[in-house]
Amino acid sequence: MTELLRSWVETANDPDSPFPLNNLPFGVFSAGDAPRCGVAIGDRVLDLAALQAAGLLPESGFDAPALNSFMAKGKEAWADIRARLTDLLREGNASDTLRAALQEMGGVTLHLPFTVAEYTDFYAGRQHAFNVGSLFRDPENALPPNWLHIPIGYNGRASTVVVSGTEFHRPMGQLKGPQDAMPGFGPSKRLDIELEMGAVVGLPTEMGQRISVDEADDMIFGYVLLNDWSARDIQAWEYQPLGPFQAKAFATTISPWVVTKAALAPFRCATPPREKELLPHIRDTGPMLYDIDLSVTMAAPGGTPTEICRTNYNTLYYSAAQQLAHHASSGCAMRTGDLLGSGTISGPEKGMFGSLLEMTWGGRDPITLEGGETRTFIEDGDTLTLQGHAQGEGYRIGFGPCVGTILPARDQG
Ligand code: MN
Repeated sequence: MTELLRSWVETANDPDSPFPLNNLPFGVFSAGDAPRCGVAIGDRVLDLAALQAAGLLPESGFDAPALNSFMAKGKEAWADIRARLTDLLREGNASDTLRAALQEMGGVTLHLPFTVAEYTDFYAGRQHAFNVGSLFRDPENALPPNWLHIPIGYNGRASTVVVSGTEFHRPMGQLKGPQDAMPGFGPSKRLDIELEMGAVVGLPTEMGQRISVDEADDMIFGYVLLNDWSARDIQAWEYQPLGPFQAKAFATTISPWVVTKAALAPFRCATPPREKELLPHIRDTGPMLYDIDLSVTMAAPGGTPTEICRTNYNTLYYSAAQQLAHHASSGCAMRTGDLLGSGTISGPEKGMFGSLLEMTWGGRDPITLEGGETRTFIEDGDTLTLQGHAQGEGYRIGFGPCVGTILPARDQG
């Protein structure tokens, strides 16, 4: 396991800092001026547009308000910039130009880090699929027959992917309870989260191009935390036979820093044992999942955040590389900026479940927050926060929080 790389930015050397020199996640920030690309280091943001203008970095599109140009350059360019940044920020290498390019993270606004080309959400958590199958169908046949053979997914909406901290209104939708004769239209009463990781595609494929799992892994630029907000009552009524539609189209929140595959390399791990042999096009050739500790807190308005879930990304059945290889396998063109949701990450026990649907077993068993409030699903004003990090020897690779607060449903007009 790699050790902490020491930086002249002192706060980056704190073993609890999410952003040591080993991490160098990419994002987009502004400080009352034009948004541009930066990397997080300790409690500072390094302005990559300024370094590019000063000639300290090659022209990489860092003056743009999105990482897409840089992401499209591929793994040699990613490795080159990472090596240069590591050198510039290494202990002993400070300069006036570099100091002038640092901003306090508390003083900047973080934006969506890349233009989301398209958004696909998968369903790769075995425990989650089992729980949902048990709740919605039958515990005896909880897993759909295809589940152990292909990473199931649906095409979601890129237009409503938002950065952490973006507030949004409770979704409206068509609802029909089992006892209702007719559906009605109103605010969702069963608003939920899904704890997921998002893989960010850097390199595109052409329509018709086939890729191996290894090639798919090379196309992935990095990872973010992802909350696939879900309206369970809208979902229950609409989902058959074409899958989720409006139940998940109103908002998807991602964390503001894209943690690169290079930063996560020491934490690669294998997928769990295969229960059925996979077909060759999605068979992995090595460890392509990551050991990333994940947690979720929930806070009532003005209340203390309460941890409601703790789990790990390594429990997923399919890696993002397998999902991407499968996604392109029919001839589907993949684009720079495509976002692939992993599927809800639920560990094997209660307390490790990544959605309220599972934690409360369909709303049957309410959870109690620190202030004594109880919840089955999300109420107006509640704040949900996803967090994650990979733990190294004396350092951690953090993601920065993925936060959302729910506003009341919007009045018509
Ligand atoms: Mn999902």
